[in-house]
Amino acid sequence: MLIRGSCHCGNISYRLDWRPDATEIPARACSCSFCTRHGGVWTSCPDGELLIAVRDAARVSNYSFGTRTAEFHVCAVCGVVPVVTSRIEGNTYAVVNVNTMENVAPSMLQRAASNFDGEDEAARLRRRAKNWIGRVRYASAG
Ligand SMILES: [Zn+2]
Repeated sequence: MLIRGSCHCGNISYRLDWRPDATEIPARACSCSFCTRHGGVWTSCPDGELLIAVRDAARVSNYSFGTRTAEFHVCAVCGVVPVVTSRIEGNTYAVVNVNTMENVAPSMLQRAASNFDGEDEAARLRRRAKNWIGRVRYASAG
């Protein structure tokens, strides 16, 4: 299943090849202080493949906080955060914001809350390496 998504203005867009095909997509409302403020709801499939395309990289703000192990790719034009990446042992992992998906029916989303408070950094990175999208590429500009 090929999922397309983007920020509001289209500066950051992505294609997520969701494997294997699914009838339900987990949607995790994160309770961290950033996602609470932003309404961030994330999903990932470990066997999927994500292609991120940025039209104007100067207008993307990469925001980190806390353990600084994840980068929120914030569109500096429209303020939407379609993608979060985390660099772990040389590989890039990612989650995408379900609210930025263009061709997924809302009924497919299995919404749940998640809370990772109290998780130490090592456990956090292990969880991401296991659950986040394990193949992430950036489309070359132009
Ligand atoms: Zn934008």
